[in-house]
Amino acid sequence: MNYKIAVISGDGIGPEIVREARKVLDVTGKKYGFSFDYTDLLMGGASIDVNGVPLTDETTEKAKASDAVLMGSIGGDAKTSSWYKLSPDKRPEAGLLKLRKSLNLFANVRPAYLYEELKAACPLRDEIIGDGFDLVIMRELTGGLYFGERKTIEENGVKKAIDTLTYSETEIRRIARRGFDIAMKRRKKVTSVDKANVLDSSRLWRSVVEEVAKDYPEVTLEHMLVDNCAMQLVRDPKQFDVILTENMFGDILSDEASMVTGSIGMLSSASLNETKFGLYEPSHGSAPDIAGQDKANPIATILSAAMMLRFSLDLDEAADAIEAAVKQVLKDGYRTGDIMSEGCTLVGTVKMGDLIAERIQ
Ligand code: NAD
Repeated sequence: MNYKIAVISGDGIGPEIVREARKVLDVTGKKYGFSFDYTDLLMGGASIDVNGVPLTDETTEKAKASDAVLMGSIGGDAKTSSWYKLSPDKRPEAGLLKLRKSLNLFANVRPAYLYEELKAACPLRDEIIGDGFDLVIMRELTGGLYFGERKTIEENGVKKAIDTLTYSETEIRRIARRGFDIAMKRRKKVTSVDKANVLDSSRLWRSVVEEVAKDYPEVTLEHMLVDNCAMQLVRDPKQFDVILTENMFGDILSDEASMVTGSIGMLSSASLNETKFGLYEPSHGSAPDIAGQDKANPIATILSAAMMLRFSLDLDEAADAIEAAVKQVLKDGYRTGDIMSEGCTLVGTVKMGDLIAERIQ
């Protein structure tokens, strides 16, 4: 079987980490009897440099025509890069927002998993983490405050900025279903996070989530206010299985969850639509401070590629093999700089990719 993968390497460390993910995908394909047809596409700063815009119709159409998209990361240093002298709608990040919207990628899945071997990197105390935690944040990605109407007006010489937060029942229902579906494959618990004590959009969110929950009697549903959830994530992250939430709350909580795992260089993410199609990328950014130095941790991108095999291509066994290889490399004591600890062997981006690929072969 041959799969069509659109590849957006992006900016900064993007090309380095995507190269390692492709290396791992290719050896996995060889072992399990499938192959990939990669189409390299430009987006973000790399596209601005060539096309003058962060996203072209060609990139969108070719991404749509693929089985899945594998992405590195986009963007540069906001203080020094010329990309940030452009108006906000022409900057690298605008390309990603537009691509997510055009591909209807409304469901963002971000696992936050604490590896036994990386416990030392976790900023929480031992008695809090116990034998580790394993949670997933299911974030709504194409609605809410980030996509609502916005404007700045002036009233009696005073500037006033307005952002709009809207959610329809349809938008809430489809993300809730995705959240419950994932919970069914895990520990069967959903924590729906909102601000229902204040916001109408959250009260609608809560009622639709309760309605969807009726179709999943095996799943335990609880509701939690977002401020409490932010606190609970550092007080007792083990209590969570699937956190289901709207766009802005998910944006903030997923960064918090990634931090408590100890390294953002380890965390994968998937953005999905109604079908099997998805865009897979690490949770971190383009890390311009270490770009081109063979220092970037490629594991988040490699694990994103594993998610791609699982969610978009139904290749569960191959995905398991990649995840097991990552665990084995950590167990064998190899670390990139971001997760380095005493007694381990420091390796660069390429070597880390090689070590993971070897363990799959
Ligand atoms: P960042 O995630 O790029 O970097 C934060 C810190 O983490 C840096 O010190 C960096 O060196 C380190 N880091 C990140 N990934 C790493 C890895 N794989 N291995 C080792 N260390 C790693 O966040 P930032 O500095 O706030 O943003 C840099 C650029 O990335 C900005 O232009 C931002 O807009 C963009 N960004 C893009 C995405 C995306 O493509 N989806 C997401 C977030 C940020």
